[in-house]
Amino acid sequence: MKKLSRRDFFKKGLITGAGIAILSKFNFLQGKEIDRKKGGPVVIASRNGLKATQKAMELLKKGVDPLDAVIAGVNLVENDPNDLGVGYGGLPNEEGIVELDASVMHGPTHNAGGVASLRNIKNPSKVAKLVMERTDHVLLVGEGALRFAKAHGFKEENLLTDRAREIWLRWKETLSDRDDWFPPKEVEKELEEVFHHGTINCLAIDSKGNIAGVTTTSGLPFKIPGRVGDSPIIGAGLYVDNDVGAAGSTGRGEANLLNCGSFTVVEFMRKGYSPEEACLKTLERIAYTTKKQPYLLDRKGRPKFSLTFYALNKKGEFGAASMWSGAKFAVHDGTKNRLIECAYLFKREK
Ligand code: ASP
Repeated sequence: MKKLSRRDFFKKGLITGAGIAILSKFNFLQGKEIDRKKGGPVVIASRNGLKATQKAMELLKKGVDPLDAVIAGVNLVENDPNDLGVGYGGLPNEEGIVELDASVMHGPTHNAGGVASLRNIKNPSKVAKLVMERTDHVLLVGEGALRFAKAHGFKEENLLTDRAREIWLRWKETLSDRDDWFPPKEVEKELEEVFHHGTINCLAIDSKGNIAGVTTTSGLPFKIPGRVGDSPIIGAGLYVDNDVGAAGSTGRGEANLLNCGSFTVVEFMRKGYSPEEACLKTLERIAYTTKKQPYLLDRKGRPKFSLTFYALNKKGEFGAASMWSGAKFAVHDGTKNRLIECAYLFKREK
């Protein structure tokens, strides 16, 4: 990796007085294998996306359009009953109903599609692509999105697996001692940690330099029915500019929505920042604006939530950064498929 020293920052004239103080907080992945590559094909994804990057790369190598490649990749995760944050098997809303959000964006046509609060359809990313291709709209929600999917032949299915239902039921039973629900006696035994985030974002650039991306999720576990996160919102959970690059996110959607995160990452790349730097700069902005929402801060004034951005640029360089240390992302660079550590803004204390 080409390290960007402080001097480089000054030379490029990219850093302001405020930025200097911030720079020392950034945790670049200096010395790690990352970020330099001449052109595509490259596919990156969130940590749960290793099989998606594998599949998408196989398709890119056959000349498949990068959007079809990443959608085929994330479909594997949408179909996986064991992924509690995406598609079939995702954790439901507070009423026990699975509601899915997804978006796709295609660089060569600068077009996009999304669905939100979609029930009973396993592959919202496929429906999002149809919204892009077969309507004059960008986003369909709820009942309208379901009717649209059925008009295109999608079959309704129950997306709530027994495992997700049991986790939801336990959440409901332990939520309050002022209602009539009781957990089973042996409740402590195998309660899973459910307040984790889960979503898959997958971005690709092909050998011609065409770029596309997809983000798909079951959203926040136990959300209020109808809640829409960042994933289906173009500019928040996903953004692609075929001249510059692409970005996507996983983590606390509300924080991302309030800062147009993926759009911001792409705009930082347009200014000359590397993908990793652009993700860090965006997280820095989010950490700053979150100071106006004290209930989301720890005692040192740092956001308590997790949020990760993934990005690649027109040269095939890639990177990812997370609010907190410890995150990883999936990369297939055409030869090797692997997980790499994300850069981070704040180091998690043990
Ligand atoms: N970003 C998703 C949402 O807010 C959730 C996640 O990534 O965990 O809906």
